[in-house]
Amino acid sequence: MKDVKFRIYNTLSGKVEEFVPLKEGEVKLYTCGPTVYDYAHIGNFRSYVAEDLLKRFLKFLGYRVLHVMNITDVDDKTIKGAQREGVSLQEFTRKYEKAFFEDIDTLRLDRADYYPRATETIPDMIKIIQGLLDKGYAYIKDGSVYFRISAFPEYGKLSKIKPEELKAGVRIDADEYTKEDVRDFALWKAKKPGEPSWPSPFGEGRPGWHIECSTMSMKYLGETLDIHAGGVDNIFPHHENEIAQSEAYTGKQFVRYWFHVQHLIVEGEKMSKSKGNFYTLRDLLAMGFSPRAIRYLLLTTHYRKTLNFTFEALYQATASLKRITDFLFELETRKFPEGESQQAKERIEKCRREFTLALADDLNISGAMAAIFELIRWGNKAMEEGELFSQDAANLKALLYDLDRVLAVLPEKVVEELPEDIMRMIKEREEARKRKDYATADRIRDELFKRGIILEDTKEGTRWKLIKK
Ligand SMILES: [Zn+2]
Repeated sequence: MKDVKFRIYNTLSGKVEEFVPLKEGEVKLYTCGPTVYDYAHIGNFRSYVAEDLLKRFLKFLGYRVLHVMNITDVDDKTIKGAQREGVSLQEFTRKYEKAFFEDIDTLRLDRADYYPRATETIPDMIKIIQGLLDKGYAYIKDGSVYFRISAFPEYGKLSKIKPEELKAGVRIDADEYTKEDVRDFALWKAKKPGEPSWPSPFGEGRPGWHIECSTMSMKYLGETLDIHAGGVDNIFPHHENEIAQSEAYTGKQFVRYWFHVQHLIVEGEKMSKSKGNFYTLRDLLAMGFSPRAIRYLLLTTHYRKTLNFTFEALYQATASLKRITDFLFELETRKFPEGESQQAKERIEKCRREFTLALADDLNISGAMAAIFELIRWGNKAMEEGELFSQDAANLKALLYDLDRVLAVLPEKVVEELPEDIMRMIKEREEARKRKDYATADRIRDELFKRGIILEDTKEGTRWKLIKK
């Protein structure tokens, strides 16, 4: 579907726009990454999964996507965490960084091309800070460097917050340093006793958070990015500050499309540790939920709507996913008459088209899923009526796995290999049935049930299912 026009909401313009990358066929994507001071929670993963849908759909449309995500391994939280545990900053952050990579693999997030660490990009940040000082956009005070918001008249164009409306006392940057104007934010923070620091022309210190993302994105993707993504809470001040620093430094547009993902709430309330409704991915896995069901739930609410996470919804996600895998199971294990039907061909094409057009419409995931479930409903009926043929089954399977390049929720195999002793028991039972020894057959069936396997006797022979499926 080369002619598909992808339309996406751009926070900068406040409109749904046609997506046209700077360089044909290639997308430069930057997504704000984790601060590695704790395990990531499901609110974080809501953003990452929505960004993953965006990226996978771009790839599905045929774009080459160059993707960078930062790892923030120095800030107030990481420094405090390391001090609390009495370990080095590196030892502390690497532990959570490792956990983060395990989690993103669990949720099947397509890995970025680069994951630069803040602590390893400091010389590049110093270069940009120096450039901003040279151009008069920044100033030094007590060993810290601040961005002068009054020097950048376009400040506020992303968040629609006008700098003159920012009253004294509004916290643009959560720090206690002195500055010319309370609205100014730190590019470089002077060393405090007991904190890790790096040498710089402005004195020992550490970088601010905002300069980190500007630097890393431009280092790997160039001065103008196609898409910059993050949660809505990043719009102000983080992304507003990124625009100010980057555009002041290069004189060019920093980002063409800003993609922001709405919040996740839990059972209708803001998630917080004090309310006891705070969940990491690991918490949900420990409760026995499958990673694919968790991904399915995070994926299937439109990215610009608040996602209300409930356990009811997670059970529903599990059930919806099972409807798809049950269908695949039928396609894989039934015996179909040889041939191919015109109707199946048309249904498959219709599903592919509707799925693609829905996602091309600002990632309308509900529309895309509806196309899949409509196909499954039709397919199940056709199967019961004996109107599905061997080639149709193969084509349906191929379609679902092809669309799963975007969704990434299907199991690798629907029919799993069983251990040899179980295969032997199934065979013994079939032989018992043949000689009409039903007592033995039933005994083996009960035995297998206890081991999590359900048998189903059909005209074509015995099929089996895992109870967990
Ligand atoms: Zn960022």
